[in-house]
Amino acid sequence: MTKFIKIIRRTLLIFLIAIPICAFAHFVLFPQQTRSILIDYSDLQKDGRLYFNYSAPQNKIDTIKLLMEIASNRVAGFWGQKTCNPTFIYCESEDDFKKYGSPYQVPALTHVKLGSYIVISHDGIDLDIIAHEISHAEFYERIGFYNWSFKIPAWFDEGLAMQNDYRDYYSEDTLRVKSNNYKDLPDVKNLTSGKQFNGEGTREQIKLNFMTAKHEVKNWYTKEKLDQLIKDINSGKSFDEVFGK
Ligand SMILES: [Zn+2]
Repeated sequence: MTKFIKIIRRTLLIFLIAIPICAFAHFVLFPQQTRSILIDYSDLQKDGRLYFNYSAPQNKIDTIKLLMEIASNRVAGFWGQKTCNPTFIYCESEDDFKKYGSPYQVPALTHVKLGSYIVISHDGIDLDIIAHEISHAEFYERIGFYNWSFKIPAWFDEGLAMQNDYRDYYSEDTLRVKSNNYKDLPDVKNLTSGKQFNGEGTREQIKLNFMTAKHEVKNWYTKEKLDQLIKDINSGKSFDEVFGK
């Protein structure tokens, strides 16, 4: 056997051993993400882009599909067009949500890795929540995994998603009241990681983070600025360089 064939064989063998080890490690570290990525191999039923358990009532599935469509149009209106095509996973039971979504009590969330996966709980059947999640998927689609994971601070990603989330509780009026007419706003721009932004503090403080991030992005936003930011981020610039400190 030539030396070349030996090297090829050895490399293949290393790959064959490394792939299952990496897949297993990913499952241990990110069980919900891994299950969502492998959703085609689950026992969930599929209707278009939506996966759900057989026990979910048909009227709920019809409602979710309708909300997905209206929310997609809202997101397309904000971004000019919708370029993402996320997978949706509806979890009727809490156990299913823990399996695919999160062990924490949130109404919905978006996993982004090898595509985007929007996991909706029973409490997430809501136009604003679904539009919010599709916005995350759209931003991810436009900047890619590396930029989304390592360059974009959590406050900006959430503030941007909140532009398509019209829930009253997060409105400007609510913020004005809760922040003593904008005098007591949290310093959200220092909340760069997801943990800092929505994993620390009381529920009220976290809600205030979301409202404030929405307010900051709203004051900054124009379609041109957002397009430029994406262009600059994709060309290698850092968020601070583009957005300014
Ligand atoms: Zn969000």
